[in-house]
Amino acid sequence: MYKARIDDLPPGGKLAVRAVRNGRGIVALKAIRKGATICEISGKVVSAEVVWGYWDIDERLGENCFRYDADNYLDPNGKLGQYANHSCNPNSGIVKKGRRLLLKAITAIAPGDEVTHDYSTLLGADDVWKLRCNCGAANCRRTVRNIASLPASTLRKYRRLGIVPAFII
Ligand SMILES: [Zn+2]
Repeated sequence: MYKARIDDLPPGGKLAVRAVRNGRGIVALKAIRKGATICEISGKVVSAEVVWGYWDIDERLGENCFRYDADNYLDPNGKLGQYANHSCNPNSGIVKKGRRLLLKAITAIAPGDEVTHDYSTLLGADDVWKLRCNCGAANCRRTVRNIASLPASTLRKYRRLGIVPAFII
């Protein structure tokens, strides 16, 4: 079941889940500086087979999953991470530290801004999933596909920022 309740909002009231351009998303309530850890993406680590099964239950369950390593995904259902939306011009990125996925700010984020990351940074060359994008960014790619589809300059930028996990490259 897709759960709409979340139980891991970080303390301090810096984030909220609000209505955004595309459904609901994570919104900063306080200024976040570039380089700061915004939150942990928590959830349950599941195999690729489990994620494939999600598409038959509710496609949102599958769409929300984060690639976790070569063989597994992190399912954030019921957690804040299920509202982490994509942008082709993101202000955050995913960094894997030990066994944890952290969302880090790659630009300064102002109160009221939606916190977004680029889904392609977590889609390996073997991920065939794609998303029709309506993020509104000037550089919107219209269709979001795996890491190999990124413009070379964008990939270089993301690698420099350290937001492409080693298991994706
Ligand atoms: Zn876009």
